[in-house]
Amino acid sequence: MSEAQIDNLTSLLPKRIAKLTELAYNLWWTWHPEVPRLFQRIDPVLWESVYHNPVKFLRRVEREALRTAYNDKRFAGLYDRCVNDFTEYMNQPATWFGQMHAPWGKPVAYFSFEFGLHECLPMYAGGLGVLAGDHLKQASDLGIPMVGVGFLYLQGYFRQRITEDGWQEADFAPLDFAELPITRVTGPDKQPLTLSIELPNRLIWAQVWRAQVGRVPLYLLDTDVPKNSAPDRQLTYRLYNPDPDTRIAQEIVLGIGGVRALRALGIEPGVWHLNEGHPAFSTLERTRELVQQGLTFEQARREVRKTTVFTTHTPVPAGNDQFPQWQIDRQLNGYWSELGLDREAFMDLADWQGSYNMTVLALRMADRCNAVSELHGEVSRKMWKDLNSKDSAPIRHITNGVHTTTWLSRRMRRLFDEHLGPDWIERLDDPSVWAQVHDIPDEDLWSVHKHYKRRLASFMQERARSKWVTHSQHPVQTIASGVLINPSVLTIGFARRFATYKRASLILRDVKRLLNIINNPHMPVQILFAGKAHPNDEPGKRLIQELYRQVKNADSAGRLVFIEDYDMYVARQLVQGVDVWMNTPRRPYEASGTSGMKAALNGALNFSVLDGWWREAYNGKNGWAIGNEIEYASAEEQDAADVESLYSILENEIVPLYYRADDNSIPHQWIQMMKESIATCGPRFCTMRMVKQYVNEMYSPPVAGVVNLNGKLASQVSQV
Ligand SMILES: *Cc1c(COP(=O)(O)O)cnc(C)c1O
Repeated sequence: MSEAQIDNLTSLLPKRIAKLTELAYNLWWTWHPEVPRLFQRIDPVLWESVYHNPVKFLRRVEREALRTAYNDKRFAGLYDRCVNDFTEYMNQPATWFGQMHAPWGKPVAYFSFEFGLHECLPMYAGGLGVLAGDHLKQASDLGIPMVGVGFLYLQGYFRQRITEDGWQEADFAPLDFAELPITRVTGPDKQPLTLSIELPNRLIWAQVWRAQVGRVPLYLLDTDVPKNSAPDRQLTYRLYNPDPDTRIAQEIVLGIGGVRALRALGIEPGVWHLNEGHPAFSTLERTRELVQQGLTFEQARREVRKTTVFTTHTPVPAGNDQFPQWQIDRQLNGYWSELGLDREAFMDLADWQGSYNMTVLALRMADRCNAVSELHGEVSRKMWKDLNSKDSAPIRHITNGVHTTTWLSRRMRRLFDEHLGPDWIERLDDPSVWAQVHDIPDEDLWSVHKHYKRRLASFMQERARSKWVTHSQHPVQTIASGVLINPSVLTIGFARRFATYKRASLILRDVKRLLNIINNPHMPVQILFAGKAHPNDEPGKRLIQELYRQVKNADSAGRLVFIEDYDMYVARQLVQGVDVWMNTPRRPYEASGTSGMKAALNGALNFSVLDGWWREAYNGKNGWAIGNEIEYASAEEQDAADVESLYSILENEIVPLYYRADDNSIPHQWIQMMKESIATCGPRFCTMRMVKQYVNEMYSPPVAGVVNLNGKLASQVSQV
C-alpha cells in the first residue's frame, strides 16, 4: 500500500484505537505476546480467517466490532499497554549495541533469497528463510543498524494440499500486495521507486517494497512491473524456480538490483552479509562500481572483500547453486568488460569443475565466511579445500539460533517472567538466567505444557473440520489430519522439508515394530508429521506419499498424523505442543537445523541424530541421541544402525520415562529432563548469542571507523 492508502485506513478507525494501523504495519507485533490477542479480541473469527494478517484484518473488520472493543475497559487497557510497549521499543535509547560499540555510521545490509517473519508474509520455504527473519528481529532487538534485502514473491512459496492417495499438490494463488503488511517505496518525486538492470538483450525493471521489522527495514524487490516483458514480470512470482535461466535472472535481480536499490535509497552499507550464495552477484556489482571509478579489478575486489560476509548453509555439493557457463554467458555477456576482466577471468572467479558456482564466487569475494554449526564448519572446509587458500578466506562457524520471543509460547513466557528474574528478556544468552528454570515447580511447568498439548489437539481438529465442510476431503483424510489425537498420550513431532537426506520415512523401516510402539495399550504413542517437498522434487513427494499411506492405515489407529501445509503457524503449534521433537537427517547433511531449538525452548525433548546443532547441545541429560558419530561405509549401513537405535531408545527409554508419573499424574523425572533441556539450550541456541557473535566476529572488524569501546568486554560476549 502507499502511504496515502495507509492514512486512509487509519482514518477509518475510531480515534481512540487508531494506532492499530501502526502496529499492523510493523512486524514487531509478531514477537510481542499481547498484540495478537488485541486483534483476536476484536473479532476472533475474522482473525483466524485472515490467517493472522493484521492489515487484511483492519481492512475487513466491522465498525461495530471495533466500537464494542474500545468501549470495553479491559480491551482499552490492553491496547494502551501494547502501544506503550511499541513506542518504548522503537525509541529505546540503551540497546546492547549502543552500549557496546561506538555508533556505526553505516548499516549492515543482509541479503537473502527468503525471509520467514510470519505466516502472513509467506516469503520463505524453510529453515534458511526463518533464520534470516529471526536474524533481522534480533538485530532490531539489539539495536544493530541493519537493512534486509530480498524478494516479494507474488505467489509466496506455495500452499500444500495432499490428495487422498498422499500426493502433494501445490497451490500457487497470487497474493494481494495491498493486503500485506508492506508499503511501496517511493522516490523523491513521490513516484514508485524503480531500478533497472541492463542485460545483453534487455533491461529488467524492478520496484521496491518495504516491510518493517521492529527498527529494521526489509526491502523487497518485485519485477512484476508493466515495463518488463512477460517472462521478466514473472521472475519474482515464485521462490526457488528450478529453471536455471530464471534462477540466474533472479540472482542477478537480487544481487545487482539489490545493490542498485540501496543506492537509489541513499543507503550506504558498511557490511554486506550474503545469506547463502544466491545474492553473490552483489559483490560483482560493487566491484564494477569501483572499477568504473578508476580502480583496477584487483584493487576493487580487495575493497569489496573487506566489507563482505558470507554464510554458507549447504553441506551437499549439489545443494549449492551452480550453472553451466554458457547459461551465464547468455545473461551476463559483456558484464565482465565493465569489471575490467575478460570472459575467462570472469568465469574463473566462480569456477567449480567447469561450472559457474555461486558459493565459490561468494567464498572468493568475502573476507569472512562461516558455516552454521561446528560439524558443518568441518564439512565445509573439507568440501571447499581445493579452492586456492590464498584466494578465499577460511570458513569458520557460528552455530545458528532461534529468536526466542518469536518461538516461545505466551504462557511459558509468563512462567519464565515469574522465575527468571525481571530482566531475563535482555539476558537471553546468559546461562545463569536459564539455570533458574530448575526452580520452577514441576506442577506449574507441566500444567503450561499440558495446556499447549490440548491446544495443539484442538488446532488439528479445527483444521480438519474446516476441510471437511468444503467437501474436498475423503473421510480417511480427516482421520489422517489428527482428529483422533489424545492430548494425554506421549506425542512426538516431526516437521521439516521433505528433502531425502532428512529421511522422514526412516521410522517406517519396520512397520510392525513401529505399530507395536504406538499401539501399546498401556503406553501409547502419537507421531505428528508435517512438511513440504519442493514442487519439482519427485523423490521428496514420494516420501510424503509413503508416509501418508501409513498414516491412513487403520492399523495406525489414528495415532499417526500428517498436518498439511507446514508453515510458521503450524510450526509454532507443533514446537509448543509436542513432548518430543524427532529429527533423523543422514549425518552430516543437516547443516544446523533450528526447529529442535524452538521445541527445546518450549520444553519438548529432542530425540535426534548427532548432527548440526544437536551434536553441540546434547549432554546425555537433556534429550536423546539417535545413532552415534561413526562414519559408515554406506548410507544403507548408516540407516540400519540409526533405525535400530531409534526404535530401541523409544521402547526402552522415552516411552517408559514419559509414563512414569506420581499419583497426581505428574512425571517428575520427565520434567527434570525438560528443565535440563530448557536451561542448556535456551542460552546457547538463541539468536541473541548468534547475532552478537556475528557482530563481534564477522561485522565489527571490516567496518571502517568502528571502535570497540571495550575490546575485552566484546570478546567475552562472543564466548558466551
Ligand atoms: C524452523 C522452521 C524450519 C526449519 O526447520 P529445520 O529444523 O531446519 O528442519 C522450516 N520450516 C518452518 C516453517 C520453520 O518454522
